[in-house]
Amino acid sequence: MSPAKRIVQVAVPSPLAQTFDYLLPRQGISPVIGVRVRVPFGKRSVVGIVTGLAADSALPAARLRTVQQVLDADPLFPPDLLELLLWASDYYHHPVGEVLSTALPLVLRRGRPAIPSGGAEGWVITGAGRSRLATHPPLRGIPAALLSTLAGHEGIAGPSVFEALSDRWRPALRSLVSRGWVSGLPRDCLVQPEPGPAAPPVLGAAQEAAVVAMTRAAPGFHCYLLHGVTGSGKTEVYLRIVSQALAAGGQVLVLVPEIGLTPQLVERFRQRCAGAIAVIHSALSETERLCAWLRARDGTARVVLGTRSAVFAPMKALRLIVVDEEHDASYKQQDGFRYSARDVAIRRSQHGKIPVVLGSATPSLESLHNARQGRYTLLQLPERAGGAQLPPVRLLDLRRLARADGLAPPLVAAVNERLKRREQSLLFINRRGFAPVLMCHDCGWIAPCPRCDARMTLHKADGVLRCHHCGSAASTPSACPVCQGQSLRGLGEGTERVEAALARVFPGACIERIDRDSTRRKGALEEKLGRVRAGDADILVGTQMLAKGHDFPNLTLVGVLNADQGLYGQDFRSAEQMFQRIMQVAGRAGRAGKPGEVLIQTFHPEHPLFLALGRHDYSGFADFALQERQEAQFPPYCHLALLRAESPRRGSALAFLAQARAAADTLGPVAGVTVMDPVPSPMERRLGRYRAQLLVQASRRPALHRFLGLWLPCITAASLARRVRWALDVDPLDMS
Ligand code: ADP
Ligand code: ZN
Ligand code: ZN
Repeated sequence: MSPAKRIVQVAVPSPLAQTFDYLLPRQGISPVIGVRVRVPFGKRSVVGIVTGLAADSALPAARLRTVQQVLDADPLFPPDLLELLLWASDYYHHPVGEVLSTALPLVLRRGRPAIPSGGAEGWVITGAGRSRLATHPPLRGIPAALLSTLAGHEGIAGPSVFEALSDRWRPALRSLVSRGWVSGLPRDCLVQPEPGPAAPPVLGAAQEAAVVAMTRAAPGFHCYLLHGVTGSGKTEVYLRIVSQALAAGGQVLVLVPEIGLTPQLVERFRQRCAGAIAVIHSALSETERLCAWLRARDGTARVVLGTRSAVFAPMKALRLIVVDEEHDASYKQQDGFRYSARDVAIRRSQHGKIPVVLGSATPSLESLHNARQGRYTLLQLPERAGGAQLPPVRLLDLRRLARADGLAPPLVAAVNERLKRREQSLLFINRRGFAPVLMCHDCGWIAPCPRCDARMTLHKADGVLRCHHCGSAASTPSACPVCQGQSLRGLGEGTERVEAALARVFPGACIERIDRDSTRRKGALEEKLGRVRAGDADILVGTQMLAKGHDFPNLTLVGVLNADQGLYGQDFRSAEQMFQRIMQVAGRAGRAGKPGEVLIQTFHPEHPLFLALGRHDYSGFADFALQERQEAQFPPYCHLALLRAESPRRGSALAFLAQARAAADTLGPVAGVTVMDPVPSPMERRLGRYRAQLLVQASRRPALHRFLGLWLPCITAASLARRVRWALDVDPLDMS
């Protein structure tokens, strides 16, 4: 660094969009881009990341504050990752400091050393510890012995070493840790490879073609859309190309929607990949997260297998990214920094000039459109692997069929068949609880959520009414609070009611209910899935938790109870999401040799969407849905940003959005960008707050981003901006 560069630009965790300039202290380590520094910020001291070095600042020198401490010798973020994060901050118009801190494990955000810590069976000496050893006055006694021994053991030692020094080493070590001179190493957080018993299967022709296409491609960025029906062997394709990338010395990033639901996937990677795996998901402790992050960064983890936030894992030898179930909504963060991990992954591949594979049985319409436009390469696996057949789909016309507790007679008969053959059935219903509405049959009163524009769901097992939007709960009233009548009844069906009805109809059957309520306890889901796989369950009733990635060899019937919901959804994506969910859940039937069957209850058996479902024709559905999107000018035929606002005061959110709208008008027209009028959100009141939104639509992305860049400062400056809570969502997924 030239001596003239005495200013550092620092991204601090703050809702302000810019970085802040600080003076470097006269002595101490000179920071480089990507290291953490501790800086004064307002009245606090915060940890920020250096994003730039400069000779001077726009601020007068007298107003500049000084860096208090440089926390790292080397950059925490490899340059490519820092570049990606800066891009993401720009693209999502989200404050750079918050973006950078999202990408860091909490422990590092707090300024702790970037070495593993806690839950230890081994300890390392820190930089501060080494400095302490080198300074006067020297340490004395057991602490001194421990510290210098550690320094001599390449910085790492375990209990056996310390026991030889003193039998009172533990308290001394604790005091060294508390002073930041020593840090604990956690038990190894990596999943080590363990070759499985079975040889890998011989690839089918379509699998082979997909692998060959990816293997033969020239090096560099390439986005593949692997569209394979459920059970077509997509995972097998991933395993092949992941192995190739590992064999070539690379690291691989594999993103999945939810780890808890796919323990089998982790196991398959462990058996097939020649390299340690860091598994990153939301249930990790902060120490485990730090350890996984560091192992990804130092290259010990060859594979990072993780959920959304793993897309920001530092990896210096990244050669391939796989995004499994790329259509899944959980890739989009729904609050704070609202990024899409799938889209960031594609960007990361572009930056890194490496291939990315998006896999799904039901690709998002955006990705399918990109493939059809030639931006992605479409690879198709139209048939199930190993000769298994897709299950025939039968539509049950509810206009002609009576139902008891949500079940039409042909479905009950089909379950009965399975029971006789000792096979399993799965009944899918999109709602947990007993009934979605509690109504008084005397006066028509419906139990409302006190804090939302929503109805309370009846949970009979707990005897409570619960709002699924805000979590409010109340005990179920014994009489109508309006007319004091005794005729309160649950309307409609949830998983609990269906479970109870099945227990009545099939008293001898073992029924497993799988939804958020029945799996709240840690380990409950694994136990339930284990029982199902072991054949100890005859009937499964559950929500979309059942749709993802499970392989139940003895499952031959899937029933879908309330398929029509998506047809009436307020969101333009409702139909797509419903179709994907039903296709995924239908894909659970007949995966291992035994033929399966799918029954779908609907009031609209002639709807093109259900006709396509009946043929397993996702592309046919996509043709239809894409045409609708084009006619209505929705994504992927335009690009959206949604400005949301909420306030406990009725009208404030709308008033703020009106200011934002007016500010947009003062910018003059931006070609290709349309700013709509502010409207109340589809669910106007949630958690006691009134919500509103304003949609911006653009025919081209660059125009959208140019506009947002101009508009955001005006929004921030609006007089009501500090009176409401607001956020900008680029490429919004959920418009409710
Ligand atoms: P997907 O990820 O598309 O749902 P999987 O990769 O999980 O599919 O494969 C479904 C099942 O088929 C798994 O049990 C897998 O072991 C098996 N399988 C995959 N490829 C082959 C193949 N080429 N030959 C035989 N069985 C295969
Ligand atoms: Zn009443
Ligand atoms: Zn509520």
